Amino acid sequence: MTEVQLQEFKLDPDSELRFEVESKNEKVVLEVKSGYAELFGTELVKGKPYEFHTGAKVAVFTWHGCTVELRGRTEVSYVAKETPMVVYLNVHAALEQQRVAAEQEGTRGPVTMVVGPGDVGKSTLTRLLLNYAVRMGRRPIFVDLDVGQGHISIPGTIGATLVERPASIEEGFSQQAPLVYHFGHKAPGENLELYNTIVTRLAEVVTERCENNKKASTSGVIINTCGWIKGAGYKVLTHAAQAFEVDVILVLDNERLFIELKRDMPKFVKVVYLPKSGGVVERSSTQRAEARDARIREYFYGKRTPYYPHSFDVKFSDLKIYKVGAPSLPDSCLPLGMRAQEALTRVVAALPSLSLAHRVLAVSFAAAPDDDVLHTNLAGFVCVTAVDMERQILTILSPQPRPLPNTVLLLSELQYMDNH
Ligand code: ADP
Repeated sequence: MTEVQLQEFKLDPDSELRFEVESKNEKVVLEVKSGYAELFGTELVKGKPYEFHTGAKVAVFTWHGCTVELRGRTEVSYVAKETPMVVYLNVHAALEQQRVAAEQEGTRGPVTMVVGPGDVGKSTLTRLLLNYAVRMGRRPIFVDLDVGQGHISIPGTIGATLVERPASIEEGFSQQAPLVYHFGHKAPGENLELYNTIVTRLAEVVTERCENNKKASTSGVIINTCGWIKGAGYKVLTHAAQAFEVDVILVLDNERLFIELKRDMPKFVKVVYLPKSGGVVERSSTQRAEARDARIREYFYGKRTPYYPHSFDVKFSDLKIYKVGAPSLPDSCLPLGMRAQEALTRVVAALPSLSLAHRVLAVSFAAAPDDDVLHTNLAGFVCVTAVDMERQILTILSPQPRPLPNTVLLLSELQYMDNH
């Protein structure tokens, strides 16, 4: 039997314990022994064990001082006294002032967008600001435009969800009834036209929801974005800013982006530069791919609370599989009157083939391909675990038992190997 390592840390006020769980199948248990601590804005309960698994990169922060115990093997563990938490708390306080004003004047609360290159803590700051808002009794809307990781749903999608309670330490924000749109790729650059189309759509629906929910409206919106900030990536960001009519842009750790946005945004948009935390860990492309895979696995099998997905066969003839984006052709080869951009948002039938194996399919609420599929949100996802060309059958992994809903299935470039 391997020995369980026990480490105890005494944290001074305004400091944080950072640790990573790296080795495969490793588990680290965290417990606050005394004092008060929080994890990315969620309060930790004293004496309650919290589990972290392979790939976790964590910071336990304390405003007042505490003692923390770690059980299990950590790759790194150290206490840092230098953190940007006071700066982040000030941002929260400024947003809170705007919410109070919105409440008094019956206007909309602040719409904030977090931008910056990859691995600077955008998702973490988004989570922190949402947690602080909800702990003040607010009900903010969380929007995630990061198709690379997919914090609300799975990678290859964008989405929004109303935040009604702080993120669970182990499972993140509650996944109840999020609003999700299909993109189908890991990076916006794979189909800019489609990306901008669904961002515009999501913004419209979020605005509509705010109009019908006063509390959400005064609480505002916090938008997480992709780490692609140069060239076309910059245009994607400014398009999102416009679509959501943002009031505040928080720029993490990139002066050039800050200067560009200050120059290009209308004057009423506050562009604020923020330092990144020294604790944010850069991830290799393998780690990103593993994180994507883990998100999809979580969708089907759950994280802390286990889910039990169903596996069943479906005849090719019973499936309506489509993909968005016809193959790119020069304008001269397209049907008369169609532009190349239009082809990128066309919904085209995908014939079942062996290449469907391990692909994720998004289950649309749209019943037919001409039912405005791009503007319709998703009911969920299934994954193709096997293709039998001879019997003309696909084997499907699905959170719901058979039959599959009789709606459009949208092919995603994302793959998931089900070896659970
Ligand atoms: P981005 O969204 O900019 O790509 P993330 O917010 O996902 O960056 O952060 C990258 C990684 O760093 C995540 O695994 C996150 O848990 C970790 N992380 C963030 N802040 C800290 C911190 N202060 N200490 C330790 N790890 C951190």
